[in-house]
Amino acid sequence: MKRLLPILFLLLPAAVVARAGEPAKPGSAEAAHDFLQRLCDDIGPRVTGSAANAAALDRLEVELRAMGHSPTRDPFAMPGWRRGDDRVELVAPFPRRLRVAALGYSQAHPAFEAEVVTIGNGRPEDYPAGDLRGRIGLLGHGSPLQASEYLAAAAARGLKGLLFVNREGGGQLLARTASFSGQPAPLPVYSVAQEEGLWIARLIAGGTAVRVRMETRSECVPVETANLHLVIQGSVPPRLIVGAHIDSWDLGQGAMDNGIGVAQLHALASALRGARPHHTVELIWFNGEEQGLHGSRHAAARLGGTPVVAMLNLDMVGVPVAVNALGDDSLVPALERWRAAAGGPRRLPKGVENINWVGSDHTPYQLAGVRALTLNGPIPRESVRYYHDFADTIDKVTPELIRDSSNVVVDLVRALAADTSLQAWRREPVATRELFTKFDLQRRMTAMGLWPPPGK
Ligand SMILES: [Zn+2]
Repeated sequence: MKRLLPILFLLLPAAVVARAGEPAKPGSAEAAHDFLQRLCDDIGPRVTGSAANAAALDRLEVELRAMGHSPTRDPFAMPGWRRGDDRVELVAPFPRRLRVAALGYSQAHPAFEAEVVTIGNGRPEDYPAGDLRGRIGLLGHGSPLQASEYLAAAAARGLKGLLFVNREGGGQLLARTASFSGQPAPLPVYSVAQEEGLWIARLIAGGTAVRVRMETRSECVPVETANLHLVIQGSVPPRLIVGAHIDSWDLGQGAMDNGIGVAQLHALASALRGARPHHTVELIWFNGEEQGLHGSRHAAARLGGTPVVAMLNLDMVGVPVAVNALGDDSLVPALERWRAAAGGPRRLPKGVENINWVGSDHTPYQLAGVRALTLNGPIPRESVRYYHDFADTIDKVTPELIRDSSNVVVDLVRALAADTSLQAWRREPVATRELFTKFDLQRRMTAMGLWPPPGK
């Protein structure tokens, strides 16, 4: 719509233009959606360390300055990864190039050819007996293991490569990281389309020898990047932090993951122009989330011992049905107050939830003793099945989604920033441990290198 405006201005008399062609109110959710569309269509997917990622940060900074804000960058270094022109081809029973995507931190190696063996769910007990050295393992799509766990098991048996059957059908590849620490994976691991993975498994089960040629050109590279911060000074210094990661995977446009959060923060920045909240509000666009929460780990580490009001994480939040205190009871009363004042069930049919989960930018803050929250806003199944893949494109993210979700985000942030009974604090380490053990998250966090948390 907005792209037609210049033409309208040429063709229509001024009086008509003023009504029909009213430009997106600066600061409106429409402007935020328009910004996201430009990121997606004009700049491209925002893998941390890529030129497009840097261009997106530049573009965002320009927009924020045009709003009258003074954003700052907080640079940091992290282990990065660059996808190369990888090739995985079936050699026997007949030649065919496979539909694959290397997992992040798969490291370049010379081409090799090997027989494929099925390894079930990838736990040591799932492996067939015998000498498997030099083979390629076919890992089932139901594996409950984290990448570091199935990679360690595969390396222990001397496998030379892994094909991980995708959990989503329809040729999906769902890019993801093989290493939260950023260490190169001990062997190359590829997501393979579910249909091809199941076919290879059937061939092997029927006694057909399957051979694959694997050539990885992707490589691990050190990366210099930055988070972007925007501080809205309040009457008191303690901060309410609102964050969303701006980086994405490379197969699609990163529109849902996490263009939605980027646009919501953009709308929030607009809404807070000229505001003087009680608590200081800090907006952060994190980098390096997809590869291993690098930006939020960096930002949380930089807090030192500073007390923080709370941290709201916006990662793929559609139109909210609930607000989630992420396991911290102390946040619940303030959220109930907001919900009661915000029009009740019509806006948040599921009210206040209090369930912790890990794996996005709130986790490093929680580990640092900051209480975190998020909004539960499911994205429709027919769209969300494409996240991390080719079809994570702007056509899945409507202006209405950005408008309706941003309205809730802005309202919640305004309310929490105005809530004088919310005190800034940092949780005791023992309570932080409980926050995770109560939800039985330690095993997953250990595999991610995030457990045990620091302190006694
Ligand atoms: Zn995300």
